Amino acid sequence: MEPCDTPANQSARKIFHELEEYYEEHNLYFRTIGSVLEAADLVGAPHRLKLILSQPKNELMVHCPVQMDDGSWKLLKGYRVQHNNALGPYKGGIRFHPEVKLDEVKTLALLMTMKCALARIPFGGAKGALRIDPRSVSKDELMRVTRRLTSALGDNIGPDYDIPAPDVGTNAQVMAWMADTYINFAESSSKVIARGIVTGKPLEFGGSAGREKATGQGLVYVLDALLPGMNIQLNEVSCSLLGYGNVGSWTARLLQERGTTLKAVMDHTGAILNEEGIDAVALAGYVAETGGVHGFPDASAITSETFYSTPVDLFIPAALEQMIDLEHAQRMQCKVLVEGANAPTTPNAEHYLLEKGVEVLPAILCNAGGVTVSYFEWKQNRQSETWDEEHVDEALKKIMTRSAARVLEAAKRLDCNMRLASYAAAIEQIDKVYEMRGVFP
Ligand code: NAD
Repeated sequence: MEPCDTPANQSARKIFHELEEYYEEHNLYFRTIGSVLEAADLVGAPHRLKLILSQPKNELMVHCPVQMDDGSWKLLKGYRVQHNNALGPYKGGIRFHPEVKLDEVKTLALLMTMKCALARIPFGGAKGALRIDPRSVSKDELMRVTRRLTSALGDNIGPDYDIPAPDVGTNAQVMAWMADTYINFAESSSKVIARGIVTGKPLEFGGSAGREKATGQGLVYVLDALLPGMNIQLNEVSCSLLGYGNVGSWTARLLQERGTTLKAVMDHTGAILNEEGIDAVALAGYVAETGGVHGFPDASAITSETFYSTPVDLFIPAALEQMIDLEHAQRMQCKVLVEGANAPTTPNAEHYLLEKGVEVLPAILCNAGGVTVSYFEWKQNRQSETWDEEHVDEALKKIMTRSAARVLEAAKRLDCNMRLASYAAAIEQIDKVYEMRGVFP
C-alpha cells in the first residue's frame, strides 16, 4: 500500500477538501495532482493557481454506436479531457485501449499541461480515449469507430482549440481518418487549416518529418544533456525497455545508434534477454510483423521477474501507467530510471528508488519530444511549409536541451528531486501567464 501522509497527499487533500471533491488516496489522478500541488507549494504558487490546476476545465464523455463487419452493433465509450489552455490550444493524444478510464485520461491531460509548460510550447493540456481493443477489430471497423468518435467530438476539437495526436493504440493511419473526417465537416474556406486538427499524420498528408521517432529522439536528447553530469556515457551503457511500441522501439533504435546495448525487453506478449545485446532494428521489424517480442529468435525468453532484476544502467519504461510498483522497484538494478511512458512509476516505487540512489528522470521531460514535433507539424500546417528531418531534429534538440537545463536548475534552486523540479518549472511558467492575463472575469 502507498503511504498516505506524504507531502503530495497532504497538498492534494487540502485542496480537494476545500473543493468538496471526493478523492481516493490511491487513485492515479489524486496521486499525480498531489505531486503537482506539492511542487506548487515549493515555488509558493498562488492559491488560485492550485485551485485551477486541481481539476480539468472540461471533461467530455461520448458514446459512439458503431456497426461491426458481421452486422452487430457496439456502443463505445469515448473521452476527451481538456485540462488547461492558459498557454494555448488544448493538446494531447487519443488512446484506444479496452480498459481506459476517466481518471487515467484526466491524469494524462494534467501531465500534458505540465509537459507543454515545461517545454515552453504554446499549448495547453488535453487527452482523449476510446474504450476499445484496436487489435480485436478489422481495419474497416477501426476506420468506422475513428470517424464516429471524431464526429461525436465535433466542435469540442479544432485546430485552434484542441488538437489530438497518436497515443497508445493509435497511429498515423488513425490520425489520417480523424483529419479526413474533420475536413469533411469543415467550411470550404477553412479546409486547408483544418488539416491541423490532429498531429502525427502520415508524411504524405500533412505530417512532419521526424514525428514518428520524435518521442524516442527527444528522450535521447535529454540523456545527452543529463547523463554526462552523472558520469555516464551512452556508448558504454546497457538498457532495458519495458514496452516496444512507438516510444520503446524508437528509443531502442536511436540508443543503438549511440552504441548503447539493449539487454532486455518486455511487452504485452512476453519478455526476452540477450546479455550480448538485442538488435533493436531487427526486433522492431519482428514486432511489426508478429505483434510482439515473444519468440524473437536472437534472444531467450525470460520471466517478468528476471526482466525486472536484470542489471542495466538505464531502465526505460515505455508501456502503460504505474507499471513500476514497489515490488518491481525492489528487483530493479539500474542507475537511472528514464520515464518514456507517462506516469509509469508509483510514488512509493519512486521513493524507494531515490533512497537507493537511482536517478529518476520524469516523464514530462523525457517524453516531451512527441508533443514538441507535433507543435512543429501544427506550425508547418498553418504556414503550408515542409521542414526536412535535419531541421526538425535541430529544433527538437534545442527545446529538449533547454527543458533539461530548466529541470536541473529548478532541482538545484529548490533542493528537490527531478520530478518535483520538472513540475515546479512548468508551474512557474503557467503562473506567470495567469499573472499577466488575469483570471476572467
Ligand atoms: P504503443 O501502443 O505504440 O506501445 C505500447 C507498448 O506497451 C507496446 O509495446 C505494448 O506491448 C506494451 N504494453 C502494453 N501493455 C503491457 C503490459 N501489460 N506489459 C508489458 N508491456 C505492455 O504506445 P506508445 O505510443 O509507444 O506509448 C507508450 C507510452 O508512452 C504511453 O505511456 C504513452 O502515453 C507515452 N507517450 C507516447 C508518445 C507518442 O508519441 N507515441 C508521446 C509521449 C508519451
